Amino acid sequence: MAAREETLDPSDWESLRDLSHRIVDDAIDYMRDVRDRPVWQPMPDAVRATFNADLPTEPTPIEVVYRGLAENMMPYPMGNIHPRFWMWYMGSSNFTGALGDFLAAILGSNLGGGDHAAALIDQQVVNWFKQIVGFPTEASGTLVSGGSMANIIGLTVARNEMAGTNLRENGLGSLEMPPRFYGSDQVHSCHQTAMELLGVGNSALRRIPTGADCIMDIAALQGAIAEDRGSGIQPVCVIATAGTVNTGAIDDLPQLAALCRRENMWFHVDGCIGALMAVAPRNRHRVAGIELADSIALDPHKWLHAPFEVGCALVRDVKSHRGAFALTPEYLENTARGVAAAPWLFDFGVQTSRGFKALKVWMSLQEHGIEKFGRLIDQNIAQAAYLSGLIDANPRLELRPGPGINIVCYRYNSGNLSEGGLKDINTEIMLRMQETGAAAVSDTTVHGVHFLRVAINNHRTIMDDLDFLVKETVRWGDVIVGERKASLA
Ligand SMILES: *Cc1c(COP(=O)(O)O)cnc(C)c1O
Repeated sequence: MAAREETLDPSDWESLRDLSHRIVDDAIDYMRDVRDRPVWQPMPDAVRATFNADLPTEPTPIEVVYRGLAENMMPYPMGNIHPRFWMWYMGSSNFTGALGDFLAAILGSNLGGGDHAAALIDQQVVNWFKQIVGFPTEASGTLVSGGSMANIIGLTVARNEMAGTNLRENGLGSLEMPPRFYGSDQVHSCHQTAMELLGVGNSALRRIPTGADCIMDIAALQGAIAEDRGSGIQPVCVIATAGTVNTGAIDDLPQLAALCRRENMWFHVDGCIGALMAVAPRNRHRVAGIELADSIALDPHKWLHAPFEVGCALVRDVKSHRGAFALTPEYLENTARGVAAAPWLFDFGVQTSRGFKALKVWMSLQEHGIEKFGRLIDQNIAQAAYLSGLIDANPRLELRPGPGINIVCYRYNSGNLSEGGLKDINTEIMLRMQETGAAAVSDTTVHGVHFLRVAINNHRTIMDDLDFLVKETVRWGDVIVGERKASLA
């Protein structure tokens, strides 16, 4: 008798069923009870060491593998699904989205393209995003890994479209003039990465100054464009930020759109934070004009709380979008019928194989409806206003007045401290709150001044959490000032 071939499928599907049910039960408890756990906790060395084990050569029962994860991984998350996580800028996930990722993996389809259901869902989600930002139905788009890649896609299309030469064939050496992009001095660091990858170099991104409101100074932009034209540089693209990472500032989108039209420049909007505000009834006016963009980057793993990762690049003109990336090798030709009888989705970006990122978004959008997400965005912005009020009313705290979306910059300041002393004490407050698992905030420096920074992009946060944050900040601030004084005495 011939030997049985091997497979990765289990020999006993029934015991796999039992384990799978247990994992789902544990996962439900885990997400339900997140508030009762610390936001974050330091990892003991013994736990850390488990992630240094050698490459496994022999099998381990999957029950044992799972037990190890339950003990060593699940208690040590980054913390961003917790109601008191407000660091950097990320969403807080949702259970339905996790089921979406699971089903996507079970289906196993490759979203490089082809005629199958997942590809239609991918395109449907892109169409929904076009509708959300007010793009025409014939506009183009693609789901990518996140906002950074979405920006890179948009800026690549901008660079190629404005080149006036076949850049794909002939490269940057064929350009008559060096291209220049413009963003505010608050622009996200991914735009520097984009410049580096696009081969134009970081110096091709001119940072335009912002005022105290952190919004791009349009007169300064106009001056920079004129100056560059005068010195043989081609102004190619304005990168407007709809919601900066530092403070949530939103550049003047209608004015920048008009300027780009006048100057024959590409208008790209980094809407990773703000684009989805277009669905929030009380705040959508803040991003009016986003529909005038030539390309937009948005981030469903932020305010739609999709589990990591998923971003979306939208491009108004499908010809420019395809023109920047489409490339069909002979081994991937379409057929009239069958699996390959549909346009390739890889023609709109840099990946060939693509994951089914759309499903987690599609499922939770169906479950809740977009209006609920809009209300949650309004809720976070109202919470930030509430927090700002608490800070402003507290004599030990200093608020940095912001544009009034969901990012709040503040610091403990009991007086009589140098800037260096304030930075030291506030950094220590931030670390003590993280290490005790009480709350996670980050810090930043805005126009040279160091602040703690709270980004409320979290559907689990309640007002009480913000009262608690204010109390903890003051409590730790007083404790640390006391410690510093004692150590000097
Ligand atoms: C988050 C963010 C990015 C980067 O997005 P990722 O999803 O982290 O890659 C870019 N720009 C802005 C304004 C952001 O807030």
